[in-house]
Amino acid sequence: MEKTVVVGGGLVGALQSIYLAKRGYQVDVYERRSDLRTAKLIAGKSINLALSDRGWKALERAGISDDIKEISIPMHGRMMHSISGELTYQPYGKDGQAIYSVSRGELNRKLLQCAGKYENVSLYFDKKCLELDLNENELEFENLRTGEIKHVKADRIYGTDGAFSSVRMRMMKTDRFDYSQTYLKEGYKELSIPANADGTHKLDKNCLHIWPRGAFMLIALANLDGSFTCTLFFPFEGEQSFATINTEEKALQFFKEVFPDTLDLIPDLPQQYMRNPNASLVLVRCNPWHVTDRVVLMGDASHAIVPFYGQGMNCGFEDCRVLDELIDELNGDYKAIFEEYTRLRQPDGNAIADLALQNFIEMRDLVGDESFLLRKKIEKKIHEKHPDKWIPLYSQVTFSPNIRYSEAIANGKRQEKIMDEIMAIDGITEKWDSDEIENMILSKV
Ligand code: FAD
Repeated sequence: MEKTVVVGGGLVGALQSIYLAKRGYQVDVYERRSDLRTAKLIAGKSINLALSDRGWKALERAGISDDIKEISIPMHGRMMHSISGELTYQPYGKDGQAIYSVSRGELNRKLLQCAGKYENVSLYFDKKCLELDLNENELEFENLRTGEIKHVKADRIYGTDGAFSSVRMRMMKTDRFDYSQTYLKEGYKELSIPANADGTHKLDKNCLHIWPRGAFMLIALANLDGSFTCTLFFPFEGEQSFATINTEEKALQFFKEVFPDTLDLIPDLPQQYMRNPNASLVLVRCNPWHVTDRVVLMGDASHAIVPFYGQGMNCGFEDCRVLDELIDELNGDYKAIFEEYTRLRQPDGNAIADLALQNFIEMRDLVGDESFLLRKKIEKKIHEKHPDKWIPLYSQVTFSPNIRYSEAIANGKRQEKIMDEIMAIDGITEKWDSDEIENMILSKV
């Protein structure tokens, strides 16, 4: 039986181990952290992620989408909160389309539980990968509880150990391996909106809430227990930044000025602000994603992106699905499979990395901008009337798993050019809904 080792039992590693188990391989998963299946998870204390169609498609192929549905909350649109407390709702897609809020901790636990049901999967926790010998395909692990060192050989190694991957670290020493790493000037901090006394949510749970404020923004996603996890994306340095808003008093004053409606929602806001750590955002690109027919990178290990399109995990799950399809298409010829995987996925990883950077500007700045909202309204109308001719970029990325990220970015550029011309028309605010504008757009598609 083929022996595979999955390094990292995070979101992508856990899903990949299910795909491999279904093929009958022996799958050994080595994870640095302790066993999440038995850990106590505190709701509202973990990032929650937006799961969308690409992620669902991969979960469906693995046969576990119903398990994940149980722990996710649909969000049908964005709810923008202005400084004066005005709310503006913008649907994400067509009726019935949604992205789903899911706690990272709960999701990881569920995926590990699903993987653990297979007899041919062994899960090893508190095991940190230290080294990889590419000649022997041998890994070195440290038992973080006892300090014991163990060497493990495998036919194939799946590097799913995240943005600072130890597997990738070894690949970086091979000839002609490209690598880049960039930190954003902004970081993030989590805050929690508790549930009402009766366990209900304080805001509409079926929306992703955004407080867009130019250079920074706050977002909130619902948890199953009635709480919301908020994330403040904020510059590390500058006039309004983590460096200057650095006491409880300053935090309270700052939130009063820029996010006044959050004060009632988060009673201990200044304390949370000071207590919760600031975290950084890193962007990693590399190429290739494999070594011969032996080692392959997946998930953040190959493409750590910024979180503003809500696609990092979705893209990682898509890696698993695409690789699984290639195993079928190429009849188990792993040299060809891994080569084709890099050839297809690396440009897609780059495309979603670029899109996620662009979307930061859209989320923090433009979602509160009149002209931007009109542009979206026009695109929505054309999409609803002519779905075969126009799919807005957001929908291509989020709701169209059959369109590759690299195709979506190219389509998006063409559409942006058309919409720039339309938005420059005199009186567009008045005549946006006319046949004249509709025909003009269609003639340019
Ligand atoms: P990870 O989740 O990082 O898992 C890697 C695993 O490997 C971990 O369990 C780690 O303990 C283990 N590991 C690391 N090193 C070793 C080692 N040496 N030995 C053994 N084990 C090791 N994505 C979305 O799709 N939607 C969102 O809405 C979204 N929001 C986000 C918000 C924020 C603030 C951030 C930071 C990210 C967000 N993401 C989102 C991205 C998403 O979190 C990641 O893309 C996803 O977690 C990647 O999964 P992974 O399994 O590849 O890596």
